[in-house]
Amino acid sequence: MSVNVGNLDAIAVDARQRISAAADEATLNQLRIDLLGKKGVLTGALRGLGSLPADQRSAAGARANALKTEIDQRLNARRQELEQNRLQGLADSEWVDVTFIPEAAVSRGHLHPLTQALTEITAIFSRLGYEVALGPEVEDDYHNFQALNIPEGHPARDEWDSFYLAQGGWLLRTHTSPVQIRFMEAHQPPIRIIAPGPVYRHEATDAGHESQFHQVEGLLVEEDIRMSDLVGTIEYFSRSMFGAERRIRISGDHFPFTEPSIGAAVSCGICQGTGCGSCKGGWLEIMGAGMVHPQVLRNGRIDPERYSGFAFGMGLDRIAMLKYNIADIRRLRESDVRFLRQF
Ligand SMILES: [Zn+2]
Repeated sequence: MSVNVGNLDAIAVDARQRISAAADEATLNQLRIDLLGKKGVLTGALRGLGSLPADQRSAAGARANALKTEIDQRLNARRQELEQNRLQGLADSEWVDVTFIPEAAVSRGHLHPLTQALTEITAIFSRLGYEVALGPEVEDDYHNFQALNIPEGHPARDEWDSFYLAQGGWLLRTHTSPVQIRFMEAHQPPIRIIAPGPVYRHEATDAGHESQFHQVEGLLVEEDIRMSDLVGTIEYFSRSMFGAERRIRISGDHFPFTEPSIGAAVSCGICQGTGCGSCKGGWLEIMGAGMVHPQVLRNGRIDPERYSGFAFGMGLDRIAMLKYNIADIRRLRESDVRFLRQF
């Protein structure tokens, strides 16, 4: 084929026509091959440029390259046009409106059962005028033992296998009772506190025992406080916490820091007090308590001739287990969401 600018004009007219007539992408692809491919019309024309007289060659070359660019642009433009038409022609049902895709659900946590139980206990006692007092988890021997009438060599120390720190005679507190002493040292009656927090004992771990657990201690010191005030307080707490139908049972007990000392049990909610596998003969022990020993008051710089008071202590873990029917204390510290999600 002889090549000249007129040929290129004919190629251009033909190409424009065919491109604008192309109705689908396959046709456009074929056109690109026919026009710009290795054996395409324009490629052939470019190849023939070499045979032109020198004075025509550069003008024809420029024209051919411009045409090549134009064809490429027209092919791309027609492709976009076809795509636009295709989208506009889509039936409504084929549309996916991304603004209607629901957002990914946010996984929401909730309070741990121990925290829930403590929140409820705190609320109950705050209705009776108690405030929350906290103390150190690393204690000295005096506050953990001696000030609570547990001198060195006292058999009560054997009941609590303690974690001692390597230096200075410090230990991880075995109970929250030292908070009583610390609070009395700093405050004069009337005193109404609950002291929640972790305590530590070197226990063999089983379904009912852990080496770390939580206690809630209570202390009330005022003028003219009697055992009946303590019993009434336990009854109010038990019914608020476990249900108005619950009964309480008071029995004698012994603690070095209270005199007299009692143990309190609440009637079992599962068997209504007739006895079942979850209770002991219809009763569930919930706390130890008693009238504060005069020497303990004196250790707290409070005059036992003028003031009297009562103290009580309960295991927060046990209260949560009773409240939510949890059979194994270890589950409370496993952080297994499948378990925690139930509460
Ligand atoms: Zn029962």
